[in-house]
Amino acid sequence: MSKPRDIDDALTLSKDNRFCTCCERPLRAKFAWLELDQRDWTYHDFGGVPPEKSQGCFPFGLTCARKLIAQAEVLSSQQARASHRIRASQFLGASQMRRASRTSKSEPQSTSEPTQ
Ligand SMILES: [Zn+2]
Repeated sequence: MSKPRDIDDALTLSKDNRFCTCCERPLRAKFAWLELDQRDWTYHDFGGVPPEKSQGCFPFGLTCARKLIAQAEVLSSQQARASHRIRASQFLGASQMRRASRTSKSEPQSTSEPTQ
């Protein structure tokens, strides 16, 4: 369950800045600080981005903050899976090519990845 960690009171913001960075709705009571990761432009809990990759912190309504943290988590797990899949298919492609060079060309070849 993703919950923003750094919650502050909207009154600590100047009136001009008392808006959610996501939906621009006015922040009334509590809001969350989220840190922008310049590598993939996702928002994370304050302190969740290496300082040299951080674009700074921005205020968000709690609903949007939760949503954005969850999105960033989904995105990072998808990226991890995607890079694993790319490595796996490169390996598979190489072994299929080796096998194809040894066997006859009449063997049907699947161009799609095997589903699991
Ligand atoms: Zn919002």
